[in-house]
Amino acid sequence: MIIKPKVRGFICTNAHPQGCAANVQEQIAFTKAKGPLVDAPKKVLVLGCSTGFGLASRITAAFGGGADTLGVCFEKPPTEDKCGTAGYYNTSAFHDAAKAAGLYAHTFNGDAFSDACKTQVIDEIKKSLSQVDLVIYSLASPRRTDPKTGEVFMSVLKPINQVYTSKNLNTDTLKISEVSIEPATDLEIAQTVKVMGGEDWELWIDALQAAGVLSQNCKTVAYTYLGDKLTWPIYGKATIGKAKEDLDRAAKALNEKMKSLNGSANVAVLKAVVTQASSAIPIMPLYLAILFKVMKEGGTHEGCIEQIQRLFKECLYSANPRKDNADRFRVDELELSPEVQSKVEAIWPEVTEENLLETTDFKGYKDEFLRLFGFGVKGIDYDAETSSLVKTNF
Ligand code: NAD
Repeated sequence: MIIKPKVRGFICTNAHPQGCAANVQEQIAFTKAKGPLVDAPKKVLVLGCSTGFGLASRITAAFGGGADTLGVCFEKPPTEDKCGTAGYYNTSAFHDAAKAAGLYAHTFNGDAFSDACKTQVIDEIKKSLSQVDLVIYSLASPRRTDPKTGEVFMSVLKPINQVYTSKNLNTDTLKISEVSIEPATDLEIAQTVKVMGGEDWELWIDALQAAGVLSQNCKTVAYTYLGDKLTWPIYGKATIGKAKEDLDRAAKALNEKMKSLNGSANVAVLKAVVTQASSAIPIMPLYLAILFKVMKEGGTHEGCIEQIQRLFKECLYSANPRKDNADRFRVDELELSPEVQSKVEAIWPEVTEENLLETTDFKGYKDEFLRLFGFGVKGIDYDAETSSLVKTNF
């Protein structure tokens, strides 16, 4: 088949296998060019390993630190007439590269929130790795089934206490309009915390520790975004922000529990990037298009792989990690610099449908969005007949 992007709103419903593989290769090349990471972990579990920050973490651990990696993701395999998800193709490409480099890699494609998945992972660690020395928690999901009760919780992206009205860009039609979002109910806030808060991270670490598969000095890290004034009403101080606050609670609890291993648990604050998760958040695409322009002009633009390389080097495995007073690793310092934020805030009210392409880097945003699905990648012939199938290797 000829595979061209099928974009519906903020999602692309297909993906290009060779384009995704080329993206993975590019991230591997970036990581190798940075040179070996000092004191890097050797056996790493990545929860949410197939796209975005989780994929970048797996690549950094494997190709920067020479680590064996075990991953968990939730992706659709391809059929003869339907493409698989980008995360499926990414994972397949990662496995090919890991094998070629002589690195162990194993991936479970299933529901990370379930007890069954935790048991499978523990059994595999016992069988093949004995223990892990780093656990990355990088899940982003709109829903979670409680493993004990079977109840399904849904997260919402809504403000708290007040209606939020803002400029919003429809990335499909390029229309800019005002959106108003009603505040979340208490139940919606609680449900969002259930899905994106720290409970499942704790369940994972509890299960791994009880099974004796965490090594001495084991580290675990969960990812968050804080942002600044423009994004606070819909992120930092909204339902998702509440869920992320719960990660701070979980990190404290985990640090206590991991003391016997001399282990540590931290939240890492990362910058805003284009991923499947972030493109679903109202106002984020416009914020990102402006942020890209400002940070590219300032020479400080970064994507997932650049962020995670710095997280490992400057925080996780540094003798002087950059932390805030809540004990969180900070890799968002360039985005949140007063200079960058004041420039973004100055551009925000000026953007119109007519001047979108001059006042923002919408083109850069859109290109990165399509690249998430393997489209617009240099060297790929998108007019060529391509099979949606890839050899199952995980
Ligand atoms: P993403 O959508 O690219 O990746 C999500 C991953 O979770 C994928 O590997 C997916 O397969 C996996 N997943 C989802 N549901 C699952 C399930 N039930 N079982 C197993 N795997 C499942 O997301 P991302 O943007 O890389 O986000 C990862 C983390 O980083 C999130 O905690 C997010 O809040 C945080 N973060 C994102 C940004 C941003 O701008 N994108 C910024 C800072 C922090």
